[in-house]
Amino acid sequence: MPELPEVETTVRGIKPNLIGMRITDLTVRDPRLRWRIPENLASMVVGNIAESVCRRAKYILVKIGSGHLLLHLGMSGSLRICPPNEPPGPHDHVDFTLSNDQILRYRDPRRFGCVLWLSGNPYEYRLLRHLGPEPDSEEFTGNYLYGLSKSRTTAVKNFIMNSRVVVGVGNIYASESLFRAGIHPIRRANRISVKRYELLVSSIRDTIDSAIAFGGTTLRDFVNGSGSPGYFRQELLVYERQQQDCRRCGDSIRVKVIGQRSTYYCTGCQTWLNLSTCSDRSDDALIFLKQFQFGFSVVRVHDYAFDRTDLYTLLGVKMADAFGAELRMNLVNLRSHKNGFVWTFGFADITVDAFVSN
Ligand SMILES: [Zn+2]
Repeated sequence: MPELPEVETTVRGIKPNLIGMRITDLTVRDPRLRWRIPENLASMVVGNIAESVCRRAKYILVKIGSGHLLLHLGMSGSLRICPPNEPPGPHDHVDFTLSNDQILRYRDPRRFGCVLWLSGNPYEYRLLRHLGPEPDSEEFTGNYLYGLSKSRTTAVKNFIMNSRVVVGVGNIYASESLFRAGIHPIRRANRISVKRYELLVSSIRDTIDSAIAFGGTTLRDFVNGSGSPGYFRQELLVYERQQQDCRRCGDSIRVKVIGQRSTYYCTGCQTWLNLSTCSDRSDDALIFLKQFQFGFSVVRVHDYAFDRTDLYTLLGVKMADAFGAELRMNLVNLRSHKNGFVWTFGFADITVDAFVSN
């Protein structure tokens, strides 16, 4: 599916050949897209000049005359400039002939996209009105995500893929950004600290920026505005790399379905808790333990006969109760902290840091 970087790449690709050109003709071969192409479209666009083109989320807005053309590429659509003698393919539903003799051609094999005409303020239109901020906007910050996440118990991956939260973070870029930020994709949104959200915001920006720099990610038949493929696929760190080695730690990349979408991640690099960035460490560990109903809160050394093996056994039994008898849990790491100890456990396919205060 074309995601934000592909749409941005498309906008940049068509811009030089489109802006300032007059629309001299319109050919609609099939109006049956997600919503029917309006019958009066020709009377709105033909004879008028395309003044500007921009992107909002995954929508493309072209200002023509007194209104805006609103286009969406659906699941596998494309919008590109092609020469006048190129014969249309079976899914090339719309051609805008331009005064420079080039054609702006809309293709949509699965017809999930749209070509609509908006006469009023386009940002007030029902499809655009409720959209969250753009990832590169000033409004999109760690504090913004943290504030919004307080009542959200959904997995963080679903949270950032919600276009009311932030636009343009589709399945590929959600997996990639969470990997870059070191956050486990099924961690609950309301349990992530503001510092980790700050990291996530910059990871989302970096991921999307580099995807745009590479001209998008070529998936199936995506082509950019000039008809050539994107090259971000070669740069992907986790997406569709299941069973391959993590480029950072060498563990093998896993895949799991979250919210009906395949999610790729590395348990070596992506943790539930990151105590070095948690604002309230013992509280986060406590919540984690409560979340899984282990039946005890943070174990305190002074009221427990502290012994590394005993504590490990106790946690292991509680976790085994919660997850079933087949559970294999390993103590991955134990390190001291100024107020206690940090235990890192690997079990099932997740890694957990538990803070045990002195
Ligand atoms: Zn890794």
